[in-house]
Amino acid sequence: MEEVYREDSYLRELEGKVIDITPEGIKLDKTIFHPREGGLEADSGYLIRKNEEEVKVTDVKRLDGEVVLAVDKALEFGESVIQKLDFDKRLKLMRLHTASHIIASIMFSKYNASIIGGNITEEYARDEFPIGDKDIFSSVIDEANNIADQGIELKVYELEKEKAMQIPGIVKLGERMPPDVKVWRIVEIPGVDIQADGGPHVKNTKEIGKIVLIKFESKGKDRKRIYYTVE
Ligand SMILES: [Zn+2]
Repeated sequence: MEEVYREDSYLRELEGKVIDITPEGIKLDKTIFHPREGGLEADSGYLIRKNEEEVKVTDVKRLDGEVVLAVDKALEFGESVIQKLDFDKRLKLMRLHTASHIIASIMFSKYNASIIGGNITEEYARDEFPIGDKDIFSSVIDEANNIADQGIELKVYELEKEKAMQIPGIVKLGERMPPDVKVWRIVEIPGVDIQADGGPHVKNTKEIGKIVLIKFESKGKDRKRIYYTVE
């Protein structure tokens, strides 16, 4: 199965062929739908059948290494469909996801604080760090906005795992650990952040827009949580 979103996160429509039907959902020969992983919510959208019937994609998961689409109608093995992504949602996830890289990198370089949890939905991102208060996070978000405004082009490329592991901070969050493969996909915001990462991001930090802190919460001595969105 080809995971097309890794090469082109902006593709919103693509043909696909049903190559497997499982109790959990169907597999396509190539998918533009990104599963729920790496702290990102699953993509949404539709599959359009040859008879123009719309089949809703209700969930996207990775099972045994492969992307599985849960759908609200039965499809047939071998049938071709047009995949249509809810791109408004995807773009919001990409903008929040890229913002989260910048915020995590400032927390790492300035406060030596690694991200310890997080989740990105269409409405907001939630990140957790071992330290921080409202003032710290307000100033980190100001700085993240200054960086985003610079219009930095992201670089996405592959690197051998052995070489990638030598880069400090390449894996910032255990649960976002890349799969055990020889070659890692690297997402770099030059001068700001470098991370092993399979998920979709914007091409240029300008596309993030304005990052806005929604809420700060202390979840205990070593767990400080922020909610933010992009406008
Ligand atoms: Zn990422």
